[in-house]
Amino acid sequence: MLDVSDDVRAEIGEAEAERLLAGENAPGSYDCTSCRTPGDTTAEPTSTVLFVGEETAVLAFAHARCIPSQVVPLSEEQLQGAVRAISGEARQPEPAAPAVPAAPSGSAAPRPEQRQAVLGVTCGQVFIDDTLYPAIVVEPTGPIARPGTDGPGDDFLPLLIEQGFLPVTEVAQPPAQVPGWSVLLAMGQLHAILMPPASPGAQPVAWWQAHQALAVTDGWRTAAAKGHKVLVYAAPAGSIGQQPREDLLREALEKAAAGGVLVAAAMPLAGT
Ligand SMILES: [Zn+2]
Repeated sequence: MLDVSDDVRAEIGEAEAERLLAGENAPGSYDCTSCRTPGDTTAEPTSTVLFVGEETAVLAFAHARCIPSQVVPLSEEQLQGAVRAISGEARQPEPAAPAVPAAPSGSAAPRPEQRQAVLGVTCGQVFIDDTLYPAIVVEPTGPIARPGTDGPGDDFLPLLIEQGFLPVTEVAQPPAQVPGWSVLLAMGQLHAILMPPASPGAQPVAWWQAHQALAVTDGWRTAAAKGHKVLVYAAPAGSIGQQPREDLLREALEKAAAGGVLVAAAMPLAGT
């Protein structure tokens, strides 16, 4: 019961796609690449997911209810991590702190010449209206300048508001969805936050991409798979900080909202 999307078919070739669909190369049972729980290609609708690095590609499988068949571009480093995860090698959870330089702007690619602030990313869950939402909190390590400028100001929030993020005055209300953005969760780990491409019809581009995929808690992953929605909060450098516990994260968000320095948007999981 495999689905092979046109994108995946174009990458792996007609012959391989037909072999998969005929069940010759299908694995039978697998660990869903999105929610990490077992699946079975002979018993339930299954999506083929092709992870494509610069040099290699890896075919993986996911419940069709979790993510549709798709091609997921990854850095070679991420792909090697994906291979390790798929082949079942035990991985230590990594702290949700490392991040890479990012261009929080309408530009299509990270700009290495930008000031060297990096985006710190923390995952947690936020309780709103009797629902536990998976949340990502993004906070740069320093001021973010508008691309093309090197002024002393911090344009992090204005740049995000231009992209459709909305200021948060009440954490008790879930933020609205921002069109075209999504959260890429693969192999049960957080890989990237994707933004719309500069030109219509192109692939989404990574606004933030993990150096190494970030481990998330089972609760976070379950909530994301169930609601297909992640709340992404962003605040300027120094306004949230690393919080060791989720209740403290909530407090820090409320403090940032009260101070008028919190923006947010809801995003679907990538491809959904
Ligand atoms: Zn699944």
